[in-house]
Amino acid sequence: MQIKILVVDDSAFDRLIIKSMLSEYSILTACDGLEAMRVLEEVNGIDLLILDLNMPNMNGFQLLEALRGDERFRRLRTIILTNYDELENEIKGLRLGAVDYIRKPIHMDSLKVRIDVHAALLRAQDALERKLDEQTYSLDMILEQAPIGIAITRGGDPERPEGVLVRANSVYEEITGRTMEELAELGWVAITHPDDVKEDLDNLQRLQAGEIRNYSMDKRYIRPDGSVVWVHMIVAAMTPQPNSEMSHICLVQDVSDRKQMEMERKYISEHDRWTGLYNRNYLESLLKRDAILERQSKRALIGINLSMVQLLAVNYGFQYTQGLIKKAAEVLNQFSTDSRLLFHARENRFVFYWYDYKDKRELVNFAETIADTLESLFVTDRIGGGIGILEIGQSQHEADVDLILRKLLIASEKHVNASRNDFQVCVYDEELEATVNRETYIVEALNAAVADDHAKAELYLQYQPIVDLRTNAISSFEALARLWTAELGPVPPAEFIPIAEKTKLILPIGEKVILKAFSFLNKLKARGYGRIGIAINVSAIQLLKPDFASWLLGAMRERQIDSNNVGIEITESVFASDCKGINSMTKELRDAGLHIAIDDFGTGYSSLSRAKELRIDCMKIAKQFVDKLMGTNLKRAITGDIISMSHKLGHCTIAEGVEHDIQLQYLKEHDCDKVQGYLISRPLDEEDAIRFASEHGAI
Ligand code: C2E
Ligand code: CA
Repeated sequence: MQIKILVVDDSAFDRLIIKSMLSEYSILTACDGLEAMRVLEEVNGIDLLILDLNMPNMNGFQLLEALRGDERFRRLRTIILTNYDELENEIKGLRLGAVDYIRKPIHMDSLKVRIDVHAALLRAQDALERKLDEQTYSLDMILEQAPIGIAITRGGDPERPEGVLVRANSVYEEITGRTMEELAELGWVAITHPDDVKEDLDNLQRLQAGEIRNYSMDKRYIRPDGSVVWVHMIVAAMTPQPNSEMSHICLVQDVSDRKQMEMERKYISEHDRWTGLYNRNYLESLLKRDAILERQSKRALIGINLSMVQLLAVNYGFQYTQGLIKKAAEVLNQFSTDSRLLFHARENRFVFYWYDYKDKRELVNFAETIADTLESLFVTDRIGGGIGILEIGQSQHEADVDLILRKLLIASEKHVNASRNDFQVCVYDEELEATVNRETYIVEALNAAVADDHAKAELYLQYQPIVDLRTNAISSFEALARLWTAELGPVPPAEFIPIAEKTKLILPIGEKVILKAFSFLNKLKARGYGRIGIAINVSAIQLLKPDFASWLLGAMRERQIDSNNVGIEITESVFASDCKGINSMTKELRDAGLHIAIDDFGTGYSSLSRAKELRIDCMKIAKQFVDKLMGTNLKRAITGDIISMSHKLGHCTIAEGVEHDIQLQYLKEHDCDKVQGYLISRPLDEEDAIRFASEHGAI
């Protein structure tokens, strides 16, 4: 019997490979479901379909649907091609009637094994059903000549659900390491690996009940010497005579070599190399799988977040912190069980995934035990951290693995504080849920602002005057972004700017801010205040975009903005990321006439020695140094030293957050160039800012 196989795959390369691999069969090909349908209509007697699921026009699922309802294709067996991470597709395909699956990238030996087994089954069925001449295609001949283990079993009752073995060929005897007589006596359940028996019997039961016509699985036999052999097995129902007792035929192929490789690959993909624990990939795939299978058992995650690890790495080196991580992994691993798996999710994060816990109290008790254990483990290392608990509900949102892990991170980071070296426990609750929801709303609002959806969100600017202490006139306004949202009302920039940075929405938002600031500058000019400048806050992400400078200069040219009136404020931490790159960018802007200021100077990473390297014009002294000027011993304040150092480097100095006369007095005495703060004015709307300029002697 010539087996006809139709390979349906949109990848010409895959079709070619499969075809060359299966040269002993008659192979037809199709590039999508529609073409496959046409071939099936035109060519009679196609036995086997190898079907890719993802294809244009008509995909694999649609083809399976179409075939399922068509009596002409009842005998057609389908093997689906799925990707490694597409468990749900596998399940869906098998439910739609596929008999087996092969995962991509296609492992050629595995493909060949599966096809050979299915072909042998088809031949056996064919021989039986047609009752052909004994000499040519007799069942005996197939049994003995097929390079595949074959066993035929009859019956099956509650006493012995596996039935009685009536026939096994020599390959089957060889694979299992037992004679036909031994096999008949023991039955297959006794020689099957205990972990595989349930799945096999469940399948058999469905077969006997007529729910399915066949099934396939990878399973293990135990040989007499105790060694394990992996096989790929296909089982099909047979009813040789009408009304005769149900039998089934079982075909097996030894796949131990392939299985070994597969297991090694699986181990590598599921484990962290350093700690030997499961990795984040595996955690994600388990969470995904459990969501799809709608597991009813109680599930919870316990996240452990070690603080200080990065800082210790800077001070003591990577090896040292790696040692600490390994120590933590070993200790935590003592708490893992079959129903409470431990994962090394990120460099300084561990996660327990716990099935079937009793109640929240049990989770909290466990987390507290972990906290005590880690505290005593790290007592000399100054490491602390947070432990977060998240119970996974059954709602549809819980299928979103990213969201689950984000919630867990929020809970475990809640109490992380670099200055503490204990471990605090936090249960994810409604309050934290509200924080997460708020962040989601803010992201939506930022998107709406970018899309100019004014009903949902409004992005606008306020302007805060900066006064020159020598002339007492306004030298510029700082443009400060504001966000109003329909859902939350006004959202402060300290909240939405970090979210915009995290989501990269700061790029379109930042462009809008710059253009609005330019239009304000042109209004000032039109009202006669052409010498007042504007200072715009720019984030690192904007600066690191290679075309930032050319875009900015282009936008200025288009709007005829005088570059001397434009200042850019950047935080000093920006230079820590890529000092050379940022310096060359600021040089380009300064050459074009813009001013560059370091914002919040003194709070970031750079030391004073670093300040020498920065190509900038101005330093804005952080509010906290101005706040210090309220103390009793002003002589000890270093604010004056910062001002004189800034002058020595040739920079102008602006003090921000000036709220009281006494601060202003000090700053004047110490030669500070400019001031900004509530004492002069709060940030103002556009018209108020222009009025302020007119009332306060601006030139
Ligand atoms: P910043 O650049 O340090 O801006 C100064 C902040 O101090 C502003 O807060 C301002 O309203 C506030 N402030 C000014 N004078 C006083 C005072 O006398 N007392 C007190 N208590 N506060 C004063 P705001 O507007 O909430 O902005 C917060 C931060 O958000 C800004 O800090 C800046 O880093 C960021 N930001 C604002 N607008 C933008 C923007 O368009 N782009 C970027 N990237 N960041 C922005
Ligand atoms: Ca600023």
